[in-house]
Amino acid sequence: MTTFDRDDTDNEEHCPPWCLADHEHQGDADQRWHYSVCIELPLVELAPSDGVPGAKLTDTALSFDVGLERPWGSTATYVLLGVGAERVRTFCLTLESTERLVAAVKDVARIARRSD
Ligand SMILES: [Zn+2]
Repeated sequence: MTTFDRDDTDNEEHCPPWCLADHEHQGDADQRWHYSVCIELPLVELAPSDGVPGAKLTDTALSFDVGLERPWGSTATYVLLGVGAERVRTFCLTLESTERLVAAVKDVARIARRSD
């Protein structure tokens, strides 16, 4: 576990075991955060061809990132769901929200598979 001084007081910041961040290069405390390995999933979504709104919808390759983040000075862990290298769409969900989302996705996928 890596430990950093959180500020000029005696507070210390402890990295969670999954943290890969190089905090020495993240700047001041308000610019620091903990993050994990990022799992990149190749997905397919139904989207307008060439990304043009209103264009015909077609199966489109999508890079989807999944990882963990924790704000500096917090004990709360969030699940990062980011789309694409530039992360034009990103969610940072609580663990409870992530579990509800995963359960709902499994439920609707199961319903779809049953009706195929
Ligand atoms: Zn850390």
